[in-house]
Amino acid sequence: MPEPVTRPGNDHWTVWDLVSERLQAELPRQSYLTWFRPLEPLSYDGETLTLQVPSQFYCDWIESHYAHHLRVATADALGHAICHKFVVSHNGKVNGRAPVDTPPISLPVLQPVEPQQKPSIKVSGPNESFESRLNERYLFSNFVEGDCNRFARAAALAVADAPGKTPFNPLMIYGGSGLGKTHLIQAIGNTILARKSARRVIYVTSEQFTAEFIKSIQGGKLDAFNRLYRSVDVLLLDDVQFFMTKEKTQEEFFHTFNYLHHAGKQLVFSSDRPPRDLEGFDSRLVSRLQWGLVSEMTIPEYETRLAILRRRAEEEKIELDDDVAQFLALHITDNIRTLQGALIHMLAQASLMGKTISISLAKEVIKNLISKADRIISVERIQALVAEEYGFPNDLIRSKTRKKEIAEARQIAMFLCTEFTRLTLKAIGLHFGGRDHATVIHARETVNERIKIEKAFADIVERLHRKLELASI
Ligand code: ADP
Ligand code: MG
Repeated sequence: MPEPVTRPGNDHWTVWDLVSERLQAELPRQSYLTWFRPLEPLSYDGETLTLQVPSQFYCDWIESHYAHHLRVATADALGHAICHKFVVSHNGKVNGRAPVDTPPISLPVLQPVEPQQKPSIKVSGPNESFESRLNERYLFSNFVEGDCNRFARAAALAVADAPGKTPFNPLMIYGGSGLGKTHLIQAIGNTILARKSARRVIYVTSEQFTAEFIKSIQGGKLDAFNRLYRSVDVLLLDDVQFFMTKEKTQEEFFHTFNYLHHAGKQLVFSSDRPPRDLEGFDSRLVSRLQWGLVSEMTIPEYETRLAILRRRAEEEKIELDDDVAQFLALHITDNIRTLQGALIHMLAQASLMGKTISISLAKEVIKNLISKADRIISVERIQALVAEEYGFPNDLIRSKTRKKEIAEARQIAMFLCTEFTRLTLKAIGLHFGGRDHATVIHARETVNERIKIEKAFADIVERLHRKLELASI
């Protein structure tokens, strides 16, 4: 056990070296090299270690994947817990030390972005001062609209325009992980602060809220806690599902809710499930969460995934070929965080290992991100892809209907199944509502004939073919 390094003013490099040593021991070598080697310590004051990262990507990635490792490694190295602050390099510079075993290659020039953890705006209230705790990066202007979020986004915009004055109070947004809930509710807060339509905006996760509540009880400061949360104009509470098992916190929150709502203040919530599925929630609270507007965010469709990816690449000044973007958007379907993570991985690999951002690099990255099962081209996957192309639900392809467009899509899907799966004609037929093998042969022949003579038809088949080729890594 080395001497604990606790004195303020200690050489931040020494501290970082100690932390790095532990991270190296803990993490797979590639992960360490990719995510931690490029960091540069800027300062250490005994409480906070400030680290420079090459881009906002790094903050996001380290926070979502390695925050725990970093905390443990630091506590282990220093003998006590400290805070970490990230500052994004303004010139995209990687630290002075070249990554081991790899040629020193400079990162693409990256936009200067403010550090994520910085509390963006401090507001002094009548009695207390508090921080909005918003991340300035989450804006409406960089939130890509799609069918999956159109309604939630419109509601969020309306609330941002007139906090506390719309029927959307509370506004409750729910949906799976990585679909943009945090982004959207923070965009509300950032817009309100930018327009100065309300001053006291606070963003808090229900986890944080719970921790503060417990701490306030332990420290005999419940009054101050209540004063703070009851003094806000806008309360943005993220991930309320975390309250599920926390009865006391729920009760406290219930009173805060009533107080604020009664005073006409705006409440915005997010959750990973609809209110009715919040098990272990007080029914009065569930009912209140539904007083205003409840809006679902769903998995983004292909076009939206592509648009989000392109925008993010643009923000980070990464040149992303159409092929690569399409490939990623095609494969990573259910989570925008993972989609962006793939981009981060590619950027890191390209920068540190001297690789170019290409389909083959994307394949490599995706192999690590997506389970093998998801990469197998199944009949269902082909059916889904074709249905998406034609814009109708998957089950129609399997149905008995002989409607021209559906029959055409069904034939294409069968044709693609003969090309991309190893199933017998009989098995393929069974996947299409129990049709026989002769139907599959007929479909294959029809498609082959039409490709030769109908340009529009050939284009559709080619497009689908290409997508599936890309998918069969
Ligand atoms: P959630 O809170 O639902 O788990 P986040 O809001 O944290 O998801 O979103 C995950 C990542 O995806 C964030 O970096 C966010 O900026 C990005 N993101 C999600 N939806 C969109 C969108 N529609 N446009 C642009 N970026 C998005
Ligand atoms: Mg979130």
